[in-house]
Amino acid sequence: VRALNTTVTATNGRLKVPEERVTVLVIGGGGREHALCYALERSPSCDAVFCAPGNPGIAQSGDATCISDLDITNSDAVISFCRDWGVGLVVVGPEAPLVAGLANDLVKAGIPTFGPSSEAAALEGSKDFMKKLCDKYNIPTAKYQTFTDPAKAKKYIKDHGAPIVVKADGLAAGKGVVVATTLGEAFEAIDTMLVEGSFGSAGSRIIIEEFLEGEEASFFALVDGETALPLESAQDHKRVGDGDVGPNTGGMGAYSPAPIVTEELKQKVMERIILPTVKGMAAEGCRFVGVLYAGIMIEKKSGLPKLIEYNVRFGDPECQVLMMRLESDLAQVLLAACRGGLGKISLTWSPELATVVVMASEGYPGAYKKGTIIKNLDEAEQISPAVKIFHAGTTVDRDGNFIAAGGRVLGVTAKGKDIEEARAKAYDAVDVVDWPEGFYRHDIGWRALKHRHMVAH
Ligand code: AMP
Repeated sequence: VRALNTTVTATNGRLKVPEERVTVLVIGGGGREHALCYALERSPSCDAVFCAPGNPGIAQSGDATCISDLDITNSDAVISFCRDWGVGLVVVGPEAPLVAGLANDLVKAGIPTFGPSSEAAALEGSKDFMKKLCDKYNIPTAKYQTFTDPAKAKKYIKDHGAPIVVKADGLAAGKGVVVATTLGEAFEAIDTMLVEGSFGSAGSRIIIEEFLEGEEASFFALVDGETALPLESAQDHKRVGDGDVGPNTGGMGAYSPAPIVTEELKQKVMERIILPTVKGMAAEGCRFVGVLYAGIMIEKKSGLPKLIEYNVRFGDPECQVLMMRLESDLAQVLLAACRGGLGKISLTWSPELATVVVMASEGYPGAYKKGTIIKNLDEAEQISPAVKIFHAGTTVDRDGNFIAAGGRVLGVTAKGKDIEEARAKAYDAVDVVDWPEGFYRHDIGWRALKHRHMVAH
């Protein structure tokens, strides 16, 4: 229950009372969901925020009431909870419940839900589906062909040469893409997917596509079925080690805005990629409501953006820096998306820059130790009002200590007037966290720093 003085916002010096108030349920329990709860809790129109299952960091910070025993794989249980507690908006964080059809069931039950149907989630779940949509609606992407027969796939590769990219059609936990620099590597990828069946049904169909050379960027837009609203830019750091070395991870840090995503690029991506996708999906009878997270390659040859892949949810940790900077009433924005009303919304962002340093368990992304104690989290957050720690993989023990329970465990986030200040605050907070078994990258935001220095000199 919120204090009365948080129900009004000052806009241009006038007090504005939100027209509609809403109770929200967030589905998920990672850093992304913590950040969403944080932004919703600050939304003037939000009466209460629930999070299922949530995590102890979300609960202890007061960003949401966690319902850890609500079975989110059981749509009926989620619908009953919504009815019992007067939930007027459900926000689904991760892809698994979307692919399983949770949004379909909630919408059928008349509950406004931010997140795509299982059919629309195929934009992420099937690369073949995504590529066919691109063909039909003229969306720029790498040239490709789909194969189930290894001999035909190998012939295609011999004809086209390396470098070339081999992708499993379905979801393969981020491991289903091989950028092959030689024919041998490409053949090996085909054997792994089509002959040995290492990815199960996700790899029983593959896409072979043209290698695109250029710089990568992420692009996020909210979608209401008919139109889309771009979010501020954010860029993550996928590799585990400083200097972008070592294996890929879920993301070791992020910053927003990303200098590479200029206004001009934003416009091109909206016009050529996002809006045709939204219109195409609607024309196919598969309206998309939720976040479109596009992986883009700004091709060196042409300077034009091409679509590499879609995700149908917020990126994590990018969501953490975006929610730190969002000043609009997130509950109202997401409700508008559920109702087809995004055309009337404009978003307000903090002009400050935000950065997040992910703290992970030693060993991640390989095998890592669970159950180690993390201390001084309150002290770390209290070093500055510009610091916020999002929890991704923590539990609490009987004595009330936070315990590491996952690979990526904390998102230490900070805002600042520039990248140097935001970084300094985030790393100062990281230094206060007492967790000998944790590690983090020391160079989060290096691209933004480099860009700043290039502009300055
Ligand atoms: P995806 O899961 O499709 O985003 O692919 C993972 C990574 O592989 C991307 O972030 C790119 O770095 C790389 N990649 C995917 N497709 C291509 C392509 N056609 N050309 C060059 N690199 C690619």
